[in-house]
Amino acid sequence: MKWDQFSEWGRRISDWAQDYHQTVGDRPVRARTKPGEILNALPATPPETGEAMEDIFADFENKVMPGITHWQHPRFFAYFNSNASAPSVLAEFLAMALAPQCMLWQTSPAATEMETRMMDWLRQALDLPAEYQGVIQDSASSATLAAVLTMREKALNWQGNQQGLPGQKPLRIYCSSEVHTSVDRAIWVAGIGQDNLVRVPIKGDWRGMAPEALEAAIEADIAAGLTPAGVVLCVGSTGTGSTDPVDKVLDVAEKYGLYTHVDAAWSGSAMICPEFRHYWPGVERADSIVFNPHKWLGVQFDCSAHFLKNPDDLVRTLAISPEYLKTHGHDGIINYSEWSVPLGRRFRALKLWFVIRTYGLEGLRTRMRNHIKWSNELCEKLSAAPGIEIVTQPMWSLFSFRYAPEGAADLDDLNLALVNAINDDGRIYLTQTRVDGDLVIRFQAGQFETTEDDVMMAYDVITEIAKGLS
Ligand SMILES: *Cc1c(COP(=O)(O)O)cnc(C)c1O
Repeated sequence: MKWDQFSEWGRRISDWAQDYHQTVGDRPVRARTKPGEILNALPATPPETGEAMEDIFADFENKVMPGITHWQHPRFFAYFNSNASAPSVLAEFLAMALAPQCMLWQTSPAATEMETRMMDWLRQALDLPAEYQGVIQDSASSATLAAVLTMREKALNWQGNQQGLPGQKPLRIYCSSEVHTSVDRAIWVAGIGQDNLVRVPIKGDWRGMAPEALEAAIEADIAAGLTPAGVVLCVGSTGTGSTDPVDKVLDVAEKYGLYTHVDAAWSGSAMICPEFRHYWPGVERADSIVFNPHKWLGVQFDCSAHFLKNPDDLVRTLAISPEYLKTHGHDGIINYSEWSVPLGRRFRALKLWFVIRTYGLEGLRTRMRNHIKWSNELCEKLSAAPGIEIVTQPMWSLFSFRYAPEGAADLDDLNLALVNAINDDGRIYLTQTRVDGDLVIRFQAGQFETTEDDVMMAYDVITEIAKGLS
């Protein structure tokens, strides 16, 4: 294909995309294909000669689209949303047309400097102190890995990268029982070992880490000759939104000199609204904080905002060239690849710039507030529906419930059948999780175009399908 055909196809695809977004609400949310259906629709061998774009595009519509679950659907209430707002898609289009590798300042100064500026805009939006500096990681998982590696290096007096872990006393990392699996993986990849990830029990309505249990665990480890290295805090867990008492956990971590990382991958977006910041009191004392604008803030995947109180710790852990440490930041040059595990990096700051300018912080806040308000209203309404029990109360826009009609035998089976039937129906999409061993159904609202009617339709669908089951 020659570039002189590009604009014609670009126009066709952007028309298609606009139409898709305007009508996606008419489609069933979850893909209805069976395993292997799409695979079998694709030729088993690659073409020897080039094909016409017309044919490729027709196959995209006919063979690919049936196997798509519609993440931009206004009634996607499963997992967490992965919003792609219109300005974000346009910015990505531009970034992809340029396709710069933004690993060093000189490989595209605009990308680096915009990243610096956008991360500072986000810092201000969250009202974090000016000392925090930020970097855009590809995912919260990467940010958490970078933080765990920093914990490891700090605890080993910066010798771990060189010497490895053999011969060292086991390093211990603490988190609640509710954290995301990305914490487990970071522990595996860092060579610390699952057995050294200490899961501190939770307590209270927020289902957060019990600080006295954290302290007891640290004391026991020290007494056993192990090396406490860091604490991963959770603010808004994926399952139920569970949230650690940040200030009290940080008190304990500070007492033992432990590096701290706050995973607010989902909930962090809502912290642009002052009224939700009571969920992370004292966060301005954490060493590292991550949240994903690619979830709730309308900036499409991938864009994970990672803030560091002292980037030198991270850079000391990940920089390839020690020389770099001497100059980093001082001459106005930042090489962000020294702040992350991958070397290559996309121009991700551009979509933040487009999105924040298009909506303004106030436009973004309105969306967060609406999602949270509507979700609370739905929860309230469902709590009065026959047989429905609210299991965990709303944290931001996330709550969980269970269908427990009188006389039902196996509630786990019943609720699994319910969530499957709801998703087969197609009007809404929900996912399940476990709370204290019980299978429960999650609800969260966070799609950028969702309306109060969309959220309230969930009430009709859930109660109608539940009734049909019993
Ligand atoms: C989504 C999520 C993650 C993982 O985010 P990625 O960017 O996909 O790595 C981690 N923690 C929490 C609490 C999440 O909700």
